[in-house]
Amino acid sequence: MRKPICNLYVLLLLITGIACTPKLTSRFAGKADFEALPEAYDAPVAGRQKSSCNDYEAYIPDTTHLDHTPVKYVRINVHWVNNRDSSVNFVGEEAIEFTKLLLHASNYNLIGNKKMWLPHGNDTPLLPIQYRLVLAGRPGDPEDDGIYFHFDDEVCYYVHKGKNANLGNKRVVQKYGIQLDTVLNVFIMPHHPDSVASKTYSAGIVGVMLGNAIKLAGPFENLHLTAWNSRGALNHEVCHVYGLGHAWLEDGCDDTPRHNQSCFNKVDRPECDTMTSNNIMDYNFAQHAWSPCQIGKIHQRMSQENSPARRYLQPNWCELHDDRHIIVRDTVVWRGAKDLEGHLTIADGGHLTIQCRVALPRDAKITLEPGATLVLENNARLHNACGDQWQGIEIQTLDKRSGKIIRSGNAKVENIPQR
Ligand SMILES: [Zn+2]
Repeated sequence: MRKPICNLYVLLLLITGIACTPKLTSRFAGKADFEALPEAYDAPVAGRQKSSCNDYEAYIPDTTHLDHTPVKYVRINVHWVNNRDSSVNFVGEEAIEFTKLLLHASNYNLIGNKKMWLPHGNDTPLLPIQYRLVLAGRPGDPEDDGIYFHFDDEVCYYVHKGKNANLGNKRVVQKYGIQLDTVLNVFIMPHHPDSVASKTYSAGIVGVMLGNAIKLAGPFENLHLTAWNSRGALNHEVCHVYGLGHAWLEDGCDDTPRHNQSCFNKVDRPECDTMTSNNIMDYNFAQHAWSPCQIGKIHQRMSQENSPARRYLQPNWCELHDDRHIIVRDTVVWRGAKDLEGHLTIADGGHLTIQCRVALPRDAKITLEPGATLVLENNARLHNACGDQWQGIEIQTLDKRSGKIIRSGNAKVENIPQR
């Protein structure tokens, strides 16, 4: 007789239990959901009133939340410029192999940033750089690998110094540039034979940045200069494109000390054992260290909507990527602009303050779990950066606890459906 009673009890408990389980509901936020910032609101981090969109420090990757700084990809193409009898530069497979190895070697340094050598004994943090280079052909043309060849006696030569110096001349760019608005064009040119013959001219690996293009010279004339030896020159010029100056001059960075450029390599003799730079924006053998300030400045430029250099980036923030969903579980402040590539969720207990522009991909949404807080303040602006719509902010409620939105000042939410 005991067994049926027991089963009945369990059944009742189950029914009661099910009846009492709170149900999670969700809806998209409308105008009424944006609470004004209370006067006595305690900011989780000091300094929230200061506009931070123009502060490079706001763009230095946060290593405790590295997924909040998605890796950016700079599209480049490579032009091998030669004379008409194709005798002064690499051609064919040799050039293609060199190009691929140059990209690989340049990305090797971008993936593996190195600790700064200057100042000697520094404790400057070693941070991930969070961008890479990628070869880009014309869209829709599977035959186009982004590597091009030109045979032209008139514009093929590069002269770095002397009365015939032509490094600032853009004729080769104007004549042969491809996708100049969206791809960074790199021209690899020969030094002029007259220059190479001169005892006072150094025909080493050199380069120049011309706004929407880079000219490099040197690898063909110097058989000992491999693609690996050329990676510093390419990375250096790309950094110029994204606004960095030379580290031995005034470059706006406190962590790249001014110094004389007398030591090219670290060797065991006074001065050059402790005074050699390995920074990407100095001239040195290594060129493999990016300082936190330099990384911040590059990402700041990449985030500026009106910057021509931003257009060289793969716009990975346009389409929704399910694998790049960001979940905020603790207290976080986004002081700089961001281009997200997936959904954004603030979990129960999470507190995200946005103070600048944040782009969401098409059809992405921000989800506020019960107990989550989203603060939009200062110059906060949520939008889609590709002319599309994103879904908006979904507020979840469980047992009378809801996600919360607090808004102040000029905070804006754009490119969402009318609600
Ligand atoms: Zn330079």
